[in-house]
Amino acid sequence: MPNPAGDGGPLVRESELLKPYTTFKVGGPARFFVNAGSADELCQGLALARKHSLPHFVLGGGSNVLISDRGFDGVVLHPTFRGVSLPSVNTPETHLKVLAGEVWDDVVGFTVARGLWGIENLSHIPGQAGAALVQNIGAYGQQVSDVLESASALEIAKGEQRVLSPAECEFGYRRSIFNTTARGQYIILGMSLKLSRTPRRVLDYPDVRAYFDERGIKEPALAEIRQAIISIRDRKFPFPREEKGGNAGSFFKNLTIDEQEYEALCEKVSRNFPPRELGRLTEIRNRFSAGSQVKIPAAFLIDICGLKGYRIGAAQVNESQPLVLVNMGGATAADVLSLALNVRRTVWARTGAALAIEPELVGFSEQESIEIHNFNTT
Ligand SMILES: Cc1cc2nc3c(=O)[nH]c(=O)nc-3n(C[C@H](O)[C@H](O)[C@H](O)COP(=O)(O)OP(=O)(O)OC[C@H]3O[C@@H](n4cnc5c(N)ncnc54)[C@H](O)[C@@H]3O)c2cc1C
Repeated sequence: MPNPAGDGGPLVRESELLKPYTTFKVGGPARFFVNAGSADELCQGLALARKHSLPHFVLGGGSNVLISDRGFDGVVLHPTFRGVSLPSVNTPETHLKVLAGEVWDDVVGFTVARGLWGIENLSHIPGQAGAALVQNIGAYGQQVSDVLESASALEIAKGEQRVLSPAECEFGYRRSIFNTTARGQYIILGMSLKLSRTPRRVLDYPDVRAYFDERGIKEPALAEIRQAIISIRDRKFPFPREEKGGNAGSFFKNLTIDEQEYEALCEKVSRNFPPRELGRLTEIRNRFSAGSQVKIPAAFLIDICGLKGYRIGAAQVNESQPLVLVNMGGATAADVLSLALNVRRTVWARTGAALAIEPELVGFSEQESIEIHNFNTT
């Protein structure tokens, strides 16, 4: 992500507007903003927060956050330390060292240019490498946890650096200890990724398969796979560069439900929607069920509720990919949140499914957070 302050800016800024640091292009100022070029500078930022008895927040590329219009009354720590390095020896499996402030997509580009397999399907996911571990980024059949060898992190309470194994990170779908049990306890400093020089193609996703079938390519090269992913992603919705079109990727998480919940969903869908929607739901079940669990794309639920293109203020549900909420130019966080709440209430009322929000909400009061998370009862 571009750093509006520039990597060489002063260490601490006051009342720095956060909106330019996010892909949504939404959000007020931070009381203090620390442009941290090293672990030491992160520690200085933490000391500043302690001195003023303020909370801190780590902001990477700002592609998975919604920052309140009031901003963040605390210290924002923005890692700017970058670097990617490979061992000099050439082995079939190689260990890539990456610093947290590196742009994730540059890491993918670096590996593809050197013939290293393992993260090519994670092309064009915005944000920094450090944050990639927080929600265990995933796309088109790969996730970062598949190749993580170890993570290094600053343990805030002790002020010490630690190395964590993948098991200690407890990765799951869009989760790790960093956004659940140990939320706010670590700042990721870097990682080691285990990548392969031997082709390991992951082409199972229908869009990826169709892309290569159309071109008659059976065994695509690594660079062709990266190109395919970029072009599939760009077709779905534009990468956020300007305020108009700003977004945080998927705003809602997909659902994983059990048999009983699936039956209840079928019952609601057959009661509230035309028969063809039950047919689509059955197709989804046949395609995405694993064991007793059924994965339901949140986009399907939003779509059948007729919410594509639905708009509040300057925030809109994307017309082609309804998981994405878009800043149509000048949107406030209040616009985005009221749109999200309306989508969730409608989906809940008509399908009984509770959609969870993916981006982290920053700078909202406790009362606002309760309202957002307990939407069913409000
Ligand atoms: C267009 C678009 C497409 C996207 N597509 C995908 C996708 O396909 N798959 C997917 O999984 N995600 C996707 N995302 C979501 C997002 O890109 C990822 O979650 C990304 O890893 C966030 O990185 P970031 O640096 O922007 O994090 P931020 O938004 O800055 O922060 C996200 C969270 O990570 C924490 N954090 C950041 N850096 C650190 C650190 N060094 N140490 C500790 N905590 C830290 C923050 O405090 C915050 O809680 C997409 C987003 C957009 C806008």
